[in-house]
This record gives sequence, C-alpha cells and structure tokens, in this order.
Amino acid sequence: MRCIIARERVMGEKDCIFCRIANGEIPSKTLYEDEEFKVILDAGPATRGHALILPKSHYANLYELPDEAAVKVMLLAKKMAVFMTEKLGCDGFNLVQNNGKAAGQTVFHFHLHLIPRYKDDGQTLGWKPLELKQEELEEIKNIIIG
Ligand code: 5GP
Ligand code: ZN
Repeated sequence: MRCIIARERVMGEKDCIFCRIANGEIPSKTLYEDEEFKVILDAGPATRGHALILPKSHYANLYELPDEAAVKVMLLAKKMAVFMTEKLGCDGFNLVQNNGKAAGQTVFHFHLHLIPRYKDDGQTLGWKPLELKQEELEEIKNIIIG
C-alpha cells in the first residue's frame, strides 16, 4: 500500500493546489480557518454546502497524516457538521475521505469532504455490496488480524 501511495505523489508540494489554497496564494470560499486548518467550499460540489477540511501542512493522504492532526481533523469535522447542519438545514451529512487513486483521490493533499445531504438530493455515495460467504469473511478477517 505504501508503495502505491508513494507512486501517486507525483506533485511536489510547491505545485500542490491545496497547499496553495491553504496558504492563501489561491483564493477560496473559506468557511473556517485557524493556524493548522482551512475549511473551504468544494469547487465541484456534490451538494449545496459541500466543503473540504484541508490541513495547512502538506500530507498526501491519511497514511501520512500525523496522529495529532487526525484527532484535530475529526473534532473539527464534528463541529463543522453540527454548525453547517444548523445553517443549511440539511437532512443528513456524509464525511468522505479518499486515499489513493483506486479509492477516488484526485488531489494528493489530505482532505476530508464534508457533504451536507438533503432528502432527494439525487446523489449516491453508496457501493454495490459483494456477496461473500462466511468462510470468505473469515479468511479476510484472518488476513487482517490473523
Ligand atoms: P478527491 O477526489 O481527491 O477526494 O477530492 C478532490 C475534491 O477537490 C473534488 O471534490 C474537487 O471538486 C475539489 N477541488 C479540486 N480542485 C479544487 C480547487 O481548486 N478548489 C476547490 N475549492 N476545490 C477543488
Ligand atoms: Zn499540499
């Protein structure tokens, strides 16, 4: 996994669009900012209010994100979700976080999607469930923790 993720870090930090947004070099619709994070509206939103939490430091993905930053990201996500739900009147909320091209990551600077959901908003963030036998689930469990 590490190799795949490393290979996908094709962009240097100086070329990283989210570094440039986070440090203010490129303007963004900013909802929140502190010393370590910026929360901006996504330029290609899934729904009304779709936002992104960006750390100001460059970490390509979750694997690179330091533990302390991971804790702060989740606390900030919770605060933003509560605040945005109140302001937007949305009916639900998705947190989405992609790591690696195979998982749909397109910008290789860690970010957490904050996606307000509305009844009948027409978006689907689901997956097609695999039909696995108990033995197959057991085998997978053993690979992970065995
Ligand atoms: P990913 O697919 O990497 O999880 O998500 C990248 C997200 O960044 C996409 O939802 C895309 O719309 C958003 N995005 C890409 N470039 C920009 C940009 O320059 N500004 C903003 N605000 N969002 C961007
Ligand atoms: Zn970056």
